[in-house]
Amino acid sequence: MGKNLQVTIDKDSGFCFGVVYAIDMAEEILEEEGYLYCLGDIVHNDEEVARLKAKGLRIIGHDDLAHLSNEKVLIRAHGEAPQTYRTALENNITLIDASCPVVLKLQNRIKTSHDNEEKILIFGKHGHAEVIGLQGQTNNEALVFQDIDELNNVVLPSSFTLYSQTTKSVDKFYAIKAELLKRGYDVKANDTICRQVSNRYEDLGEFARQYDKIVFVSGKKSSNGKVLYDVCKDANPNSYFVSDPAELQAANFQQDNTVGICGATSTPMWLMKDVKEALEKL
Ligand code: SF4
Repeated sequence: MGKNLQVTIDKDSGFCFGVVYAIDMAEEILEEEGYLYCLGDIVHNDEEVARLKAKGLRIIGHDDLAHLSNEKVLIRAHGEAPQTYRTALENNITLIDASCPVVLKLQNRIKTSHDNEEKILIFGKHGHAEVIGLQGQTNNEALVFQDIDELNNVVLPSSFTLYSQTTKSVDKFYAIKAELLKRGYDVKANDTICRQVSNRYEDLGEFARQYDKIVFVSGKKSSNGKVLYDVCKDANPNSYFVSDPAELQAANFQQDNTVGICGATSTPMWLMKDVKEALEKL
């Protein structure tokens, strides 16, 4: 493999402000107190989670929360359902709330809609923490779907409000809205997709077209990672998804190739730098 492989990291890739905010908050407390509980993975990136665990971050689930008391627990950027706040209150747990402001605003809008007795549909991934938090605002009455086909055999109310998980594709959201209108429903659509992700589509596509090969770095659990990787793949068919440097395959790269590295809003810059180093050593 050549000394001529030219590798460039996309300067706009890396954590969104919601994730930066949560990690900063965690690190501040870890430095002062040596440990901190966090409800769920602080970010969908195993490498970053491992780095923070080494500093004392303790990842717990909702079952653990029910058995914990008199501790501090961090709520990550995805936000939580009201039940979590109630459990914390009962168990004298101090919540360090790092819910992303964009998610909080969406939670509030959904809650207001629900309070106004609107029927609510949420376009989002089943079981995703953010979606559970959103559905929780409606007493779990909102209907969640991740694919329009799921609605084919469901009796929907004639009129409803459509919301979206923050990391969904804007194009898909509007296609769904159009399809539901075509099916005769009275749809009030609220585009609540986070621009930290959607604004990257164009920029990322442009970035991906500038190089022979693209290495997209992201955790496999990241929703926006999947969406953004598809953007790369559409713009440049020679795009490869890796979670860490060990997944790089030398056979995919030839001497003289220009390679662009980019990632999701949950991908740490240090990991992209590690991938760059590994590529240069291939
Ligand atoms: S992607 Fe957007 S909504 Fe999600 S955590 Fe980042 S800034 Fe917040």
